[in-house]
Amino acid sequence: MRLILFGPPGAGKGTHARHLSEKWRVPHFAAGDLLRAHIRNATEIGKRVKTILDRGELVPDGEINELIASELSKPQAEQGFILDGYPRTLGQAEALEEFLKRRRETLDAALYFKTSWDVIVDRLSGRRACPQCGTNYHVRNIPPKAAGKCDRCQAELVERSDDQPETIRHRLEVYEKDTAPLLEYYRKRGVLQEVPGDWNISELQEELARILGKQKLTGKRQ
Ligand code: ADP
Repeated sequence: MRLILFGPPGAGKGTHARHLSEKWRVPHFAAGDLLRAHIRNATEIGKRVKTILDRGELVPDGEINELIASELSKPQAEQGFILDGYPRTLGQAEALEEFLKRRRETLDAALYFKTSWDVIVDRLSGRRACPQCGTNYHVRNIPPKAAGKCDRCQAELVERSDDQPETIRHRLEVYEKDTAPLLEYYRKRGVLQEVPGDWNISELQEELARILGKQKLTGKRQ
């Protein structure tokens, strides 16, 4: 299965990408997590992108295209992948298409998480993230088992530096300008599937299973 998940920040892509990845046993790559790992490890890439992320801007296409191409070239991505937060611009979508074309591969679906404004703001302002493994929580909707600690690795949860009201607003503007045009791009290619991002996690999990179950997918569910 080869899937991309896109939609506004806070739409729930990360949560569902993780779940789909476990269910379908294909690796998932979250562009934001990859970039944050570079920042944490103070790599050359991390140094170049830190202020861009803090401001809620997008890193240049060339930078992220290279990063994702190198992830997708790993052996574990041969049978499929789930991409969360990439592509995010038309230039990135074209780069991904070229990359897949060279490998004679195609996308099975582009899942668009259609989400309303109020829900986005509520989810982002209540979001807490694990700085070690990237798992997202929400103070009310997805609380960790022990307050303030990651269920997976026990690390202290943090508020993301770009989840401040001013930066959230800017990320939404960037989304409207740069990412929303992907809707038309993938609609034209016949792979667009709109999913209700406002729904709660279990409802949407069922809906995704239904949608993907109907789809003729590459690779098999385990
Ligand atoms: P969200 O979807 O909640 O905005 P992400 O973790 O996907 O969170 O992204 C966080 C930030 O990382 C973005 O605001 C942007 O600065 C950077 N980023 C992530 N994905 C991309 C991408 N495909 N292209 C450019 N920048 C990206």
